[in-house]
Amino acid sequence: MNRIDKAYKILADQAYKTTEPRRVLIEFLDDDKNKHLSCDEIYDRISKDHPNMGIATIYRNMQLFEELGIVTKLTLDDGISRYELANLEEDVHQHHHLVCLNCNKLIEVKEDLLGALEVEIEQEHDFKIVDHDLKFYGYCSKCK
Ligand SMILES: [Zn+2]
Ligand SMILES: [Zn+2]
Ligand SMILES: [Zn+2]
Repeated sequence: MNRIDKAYKILADQAYKTTEPRRVLIEFLDDDKNKHLSCDEIYDRISKDHPNMGIATIYRNMQLFEELGIVTKLTLDDGISRYELANLEEDVHQHHHLVCLNCNKLIEVKEDLLGALEVEIEQEHDFKIVDHDLKFYGYCSKCK
């Protein structure tokens, strides 16, 4: 099952209809070019091909997708929520991000060295870690 079908299944399992706007949004978000966008940016890109898609519909559905775990919300210091389609794989950890303090660009980091740290923390604090969340702040190649 690909990510799109998984997202549809999550909707169906929770008794939400796979409406046309939801399908359009999920397929749009599945494209790696359309990652880390705010609702306004999604609207700007989608409304060209789908003039019937209103900004309120996008806001409402992105909120629903977040509640259902279909998308991950990234909130930066500018207070704008940006979204990306979640992995939707069991036990596959979401990647981490580099955040440019100047232009708010988000860059994905594939390297994850935190597994060893988790083991150490689990032993030290007798705590079962199931996930972690980490952002690195700095300046991107253009801004530095
Ligand atoms: Zn930058
Ligand atoms: Zn990302
Ligand atoms: Zn990690």
